[in-house]
Amino acid sequence: MHSTDTMSPTQRILAIKARLGQDLVILAHHYQEDAVVQHADQTGDSLELARAVPGTAAKYVVFCGVAFMAESAALLAPTGVQVYNPVPEAACVMAEMSPADYVEAVLTRLQNPESPVIPLAYVNTSVATKAVVGRFGGAVCTSANAATMLQWALDTADKAAGPGRKGRVLFLPDQHLGHNTANKLGIPAEKRLRLDIRGRGERIDIQAAQAARLLLWPGNCPVHAVRFKMSQIRQVREQYPQAKIAVHPECAQEVVNAVDAAGSTSFLIKYAAEAPAGSRVYIGTECNLVDRLTKRHAAEKTILPLWRSGCSNMNKTTEARLADALEGMLQGHIPATSVDEADMEPARLSLTRMLEACA
Ligand code: SF4
Repeated sequence: MHSTDTMSPTQRILAIKARLGQDLVILAHHYQEDAVVQHADQTGDSLELARAVPGTAAKYVVFCGVAFMAESAALLAPTGVQVYNPVPEAACVMAEMSPADYVEAVLTRLQNPESPVIPLAYVNTSVATKAVVGRFGGAVCTSANAATMLQWALDTADKAAGPGRKGRVLFLPDQHLGHNTANKLGIPAEKRLRLDIRGRGERIDIQAAQAARLLLWPGNCPVHAVRFKMSQIRQVREQYPQAKIAVHPECAQEVVNAVDAAGSTSFLIKYAAEAPAGSRVYIGTECNLVDRLTKRHAAEKTILPLWRSGCSNMNKTTEARLADALEGMLQGHIPATSVDEADMEPARLSLTRMLEACA
């Protein structure tokens, strides 16, 4: 028996896992580092992990990811289940680009009974923002179901506009996922408008917004939108013409249009798994996941990062921080993730609309 002072983070985590048994579930997003992932009972993307929460029999759910993921898990958790985020300050930069009060002000400014605006929020948003979206008749989407949900939002907006009229959709916060999804549905570029949200939407050109079909919130994920570039694709094409390139749809549309495939993290994992033996595949997403794919397939194919791009917030959760959080949780030193009571119902509604539309 060791004192916790002399135990390594690995030993401290294993000791708590052994003590709590099935009362503890550790969930880890694909972008977490291996030292954390090794302790996870389940890995997945944000939605896969959130979906695991309602059916849990555990008392404690520890969500290794970023803040909006633990919040979504807390929203979906059965009564009596406590959700903990080991590093509460790990916030998704993109989710922070669409604060609830801003989204509400912009939606209020955009509304017009003859051409209503239905919001469609990427799952990378706070519960408070999802609640605003729910109150305005909108829904949530993921990168895997964005095309289905954008079509749902367009149809819902048209229905609300009434016979012979067209409604509009506000896609938030990721302008790139919005563009890439609009490309899939064939929405012409001239029917899209990237909003100027400064001054809580005061500067929006209302006439231009009225003429658009798809309004795009000007947010992005720096890990994907900024760091993956055309120059990297050109270089791969020149050096290895047979190589395949697949990226996440949070990348800019010129990048997505220039590669062989684009899709969610689950899609990229499958793409690497299904690549023929002996092939060389470059993946454009967070490098902790790509490194794992490289190791997993090393015996039969070469999987490489298109560029080494890490998410600094995802990387705030280390094995040591996880060990500290588990001990703090048991000693009552750290609070469980909570959701504002008033946001619960409308935020759940925005999620339910997605689950029903994609059933
Ligand atoms: S990778 Fe991008 S979207 Fe994902 S948590 Fe990091 S900043 Fe947010």
